[in-house]
This record gives sequence, structure tokens and C-alpha cells, in this order.
Amino acid sequence: MAFKIFGKVNFTPYTKVERFAEELRDNKLMGTKCKKCGEVYFPPRADCTKCMSDEMEWRSYSGRGKLVTFTTIHAAPTGFDDIAPYTIGVVDLEEGGRLLAWVEGIKPEELKIGMELRAIPQIMEDVEELKVVYVLRK
Ligand SMILES: [Zn+2]
Repeated sequence: MAFKIFGKVNFTPYTKVERFAEELRDNKLMGTKCKKCGEVYFPPRADCTKCMSDEMEWRSYSGRGKLVTFTTIHAAPTGFDDIAPYTIGVVDLEEGGRLLAWVEGIKPEELKIGMELRAIPQIMEDVEELKVVYVLRK
């Protein structure tokens, strides 16, 4: 029943990462770490792609990270045109892994590569396809 709590769309065939969905509901970010080789994954993986081990442990993520790149979208794809322009950014998470997210409450001119931001998950229970989005705040 992986990810069933977000609706009928399954993002992953693995039931082993079900906890990710449950923790997200409480706005907690979770990743996994390979017990054998130490590789970290966000979003979590049930199996290590580096050493093929399935011995993974859960780690909680603070959501803190450093801005790697960002862009402001003026010509938005269909469905997003009513909210354009909007800014999206990529952060390197403190605990490892990278995340693409919407920038919220920060003007593009205030954004600087390397600045500390915080990624916050938001659940969109009323949207059919897109269930989880991440926003970046200061
Ligand atoms: Zn591994």
C-alpha cells in the first residue's frame, strides 16, 4: 500500500519506503542511508544503487540546504501559466542529496548561489497527479 495515502497514484513499486509518505504527512523529510557503504539517498531508496545492498536505515532530514542554482520561469507550461512568473531552485541538502523546489517568499534578486535555505514539503491532497511539492524558504 505504498503511497496510497496520497491517492491512487503510486510513485514507487517499493513498499519498503512507505514510511517516507507517512513522515511527509507530518512535514518530516526522510532519506535513507546504506548500512554497508554509507551512501545516502533523498528521496529514500529501499536498495543501494552503489553496492546493491538492501540494508538501509532511515535518517531524518532537516530540510536545510544550500542553493545550487535557480531560475525564474516567465513562459510557464500549461497549467502553471496563471502563477507565472515563479522561481524554482535546486538545493544541496545538508544530509546529502539534491532537491528541486519552488522558491517561496524570496525575491529572485535576493537569491544567491550558496545561500542557506530550508526545504519544506507540502502535501496537495486535492490535486490528482501532483501530490507532494517542496518549497524553499529562508
Ligand atoms: Zn551501499
